[in-house]
Amino acid sequence: MKIHDLSLTIETGMPTCGTPWHQTVEITQMGRLDEVGRNTHRIVLGSHSGTHMDAPFHFIDGGMTMEGIDPYLMWGPALAVDFRDKGAGDTVTLSDVEKLDVSERMIFLFGWYHNWKTDRYYKDFPYFETDAVKYLLDKGMKVMAMDTPSPDNGGAIREGGKTDSPNHVLLLEKGVFIIEYLNNTDVLSGGKVYELVAAPLKVKGSDGSPGRVLVRED
Ligand SMILES: [Zn+2]
Repeated sequence: MKIHDLSLTIETGMPTCGTPWHQTVEITQMGRLDEVGRNTHRIVLGSHSGTHMDAPFHFIDGGMTMEGIDPYLMWGPALAVDFRDKGAGDTVTLSDVEKLDVSERMIFLFGWYHNWKTDRYYKDFPYFETDAVKYLLDKGMKVMAMDTPSPDNGGAIREGGKTDSPNHVLLLEKGVFIIEYLNNTDVLSGGKVYELVAAPLKVKGSDGSPGRVLVRED
């Protein structure tokens, strides 16, 4: 049995989606061992810092917030899907997903985490066509994890506005738990089922939260 950590390291100055509505991460020391007998830190995060999960409230008025997410979505078998042949600006189409054996928890592998901490990370990452998302929803997907910043088109997100993320809206309306910014997905193989643990912080009223994502390979 092997356990793989698919989380990015949370650290001061790590990249964030470069918009004023995303907090930059700051970790500063407060207590010091030599002064007060213990080390403590202040951790300033945004709800979408690093590897994180989205709650329905991210895009849905009155939607579920992070503290109410069903733990069932956070733990269980997940099918890995290899889309590593998709490069910058490519899309996942309806015919790509029609070939899949869709399960409740899906982990989509693009290998995009290799671009983390480069200018490319938020630019032209592969994303899903809306027809493909609708198909996955119809087939019962409840958890959608990926190693890109979003299932939506990054070009549109940078322009902002209410309609820039149609896939997020479709998914969150159906209560799908979205897991973004996975790291280290090269350790996973397409077509394999892994035991997935994706545990966000239980933050009241939040639209999302960073969390630790692990998979177990038996
Ligand atoms: Zn997010």
